Amino acid sequence: MEEITPEPPVYDVEEVAQNYCIWTRPGGQRCRAYARHGSELCYWHDPATEAERATGFRQVDRTPKSQPVLPEAVTLDSATAVHELLQRVANYVATAERPDIGRAQTLGTLGAHLLRALSLRQLEAELESAREQLAELQWSYDLAQHQLKEAWASRDAALHSHSR
Ligand SMILES: [Zn+2]
Repeated sequence: MEEITPEPPVYDVEEVAQNYCIWTRPGGQRCRAYARHGSELCYWHDPATEAERATGFRQVDRTPKSQPVLPEAVTLDSATAVHELLQRVANYVATAERPDIGRAQTLGTLGAHLLRALSLRQLEAELESAREQLAELQWSYDLAQHQLKEAWASRDAALHSHSR
C-alpha cells in the first residue's frame, strides 16, 4: 500500500504572515498553513505532531499537572511536625520537575499560622501550669500559717499550765 502524505499548499514568502508556519521549501517558498499554538510550525511540519500524523492517534500528555507535596496527609500537632512539613515543601519546590507553586505558597502560609497557633497553645498550657503551682504554694503557705498558730497556741497553753 502506498503511503499518502498530505501536501500543504505553498505560497510565496512575501505573503506569509507571522502566525503561519515557518517551514520553507527547498525552492524558498514557505508553508502557508497556520502555525500550531505555541509553535512556529504547522501541524504538518511540527515534530511534536509527528507521532500523531504517523499513527492517526493524538498523543495525550498523561503526566499530572502537579505532583502532591506529600504522599499522604500528616498530623500537624507539634512545632516539630510543622517544621518537617515546611522542610518538605522547600525540598519539593527545589526538586520537583513541575512544582505547584500555589500549593507550596499556601502550605507555607498555613505552616506559619500553625506554628503561631501552636506556640499560643503552649503559652496557654504554661500559664495554666503556673496558676496551678501558685495555687499549691498558696495552699502550703496557708497550711504552714495554720500549723504555726497551733504551735503558738499549744506553747501558750503549756506556759500557762506551768505558771499555775
Ligand atoms: Zn507547515
